[in-house]
Amino acid sequence: MELAATLQKAGFEAWCVGGAVRDALLGHAHLDWDLATSATPREVQRLFRRTVPVGIEFGTVGVIDREGRMHEVTTFRRDVHTDGRHAVVEFGVSLDDDLARRDFTINAIAWDPIAERLHDPFGGREDLARGVVRAVGVASERLTEDRLRALRAIRFASRFDFTLDPATWQAVVESAPHLGRLSPERVKQELEKTMEQVERPSLALQRWRDAGAFAVLIPALATLTDEQAEVVDQLPRPGLPTRPLRKALRLAALFAGLDGKRTEQALRALRFSNVDISTVGSLVDRWHREGAALTATIRSGASPDDTTLRRLAARVGRLRVAAFMRLAAAHWAVRGQVPAVAWRALHRRLLRIAFRDAIEVGDLAIDGDDLRRLGVQPGPLLGQSLHELLEAVLRDPSCNTVAHLSAMVRARVDAGSAQGQSR
Ligand code: ATP
Ligand code: MG
Repeated sequence: MELAATLQKAGFEAWCVGGAVRDALLGHAHLDWDLATSATPREVQRLFRRTVPVGIEFGTVGVIDREGRMHEVTTFRRDVHTDGRHAVVEFGVSLDDDLARRDFTINAIAWDPIAERLHDPFGGREDLARGVVRAVGVASERLTEDRLRALRAIRFASRFDFTLDPATWQAVVESAPHLGRLSPERVKQELEKTMEQVERPSLALQRWRDAGAFAVLIPALATLTDEQAEVVDQLPRPGLPTRPLRKALRLAALFAGLDGKRTEQALRALRFSNVDISTVGSLVDRWHREGAALTATIRSGASPDDTTLRRLAARVGRLRVAAFMRLAAAHWAVRGQVPAVAWRALHRRLLRIAFRDAIEVGDLAIDGDDLRRLGVQPGPLLGQSLHELLEAVLRDPSCNTVAHLSAMVRARVDAGSAQGQSR
């Protein structure tokens, strides 16, 4: 740690703190090592050549190391005033003061990388060994200072499969009615971090529910069942950098008990991006509409014929078929409804059909212009005619030729004008 060495040589204290120390003690890799120091932000800026003022008012200077990586170097600080949302900080305090304002004992361990010495005034190592998330100091006070800590407590416990210390859990429960004060952006970020970091999000989601956090933050999920939460566990973590489809899938699994519209409303309230809202919303919508019938068919042991699968692919949408089937697999695995082999066979067939056969109006051998040339009046009738052609093609893909479809249209036009004449 060259940064710590530079700071210490200049006469300042420099300690590794926070998540990296915790994760190292747990034996997990953690890339961003943050430092806490007695140097002021100005002194830090003076000591290093390449710095970024990431949060000067909170005492944080980003320092770029020789490999081009940024490390946050933060001046020892103490929160002098909080209103449950924002902190006002004071500098010129000791390492112990700095550790005392941290949320949980496992996050309040400092490591001096030069002397190779741990400083652990709150018993963080013991809690790591026992597998307990415990607030630093009086839990009810600490969780009142910053309501986000309630959600952080749940996230850390679930991520490491730890328990929550009883007083800390009690404080989480007592915080729940006040969580509405958190900005939607911070809540969204916690939910996303939970999906990213926690292997089994059900552990966290059940705690959000049991503490009463969903009732306040995402009322549509207040009665989430254990089974619904466990569906999320079946889907892989989005990883870092985030793989967007994986993220959407975990979110879709979370909301899969709702319909598409309520899902979109919930995501919009949390300030998710329009892309996220429409991706997750449409996936939930398709599952809501198609899931039960498909499950029943597959469970009955019947193998759906190609026409049925073409219609399903058409309703789900070609580009959503793979995600839809992942969602199905997750549900079927949790409920033990459909064996993996049966799922795999269906998945393969459905994908092949979706990408081989005509399942959208745009896949038809003739288009609206052709229809007009064949004598179909522009207007709603035209769209209706295209859908009738698609229906015929879904039934029998071999119809999808210019000759065949033109003949069908001509027959219809003739029948229509014959009707007109007879009137
Ligand atoms: P992660 O792996 O999720 O980044 P982390 O422990 O590094 O975990 P950060 O949110 O990056 O968490 O915060 C770094 C450190 O800052 C924490 O370990 C903790 O000591 C302190 N901290 C962060 N947020 C809070 C908070 N809301 N209240 C008190 N201390 C906090
Ligand atoms: Mg961190």
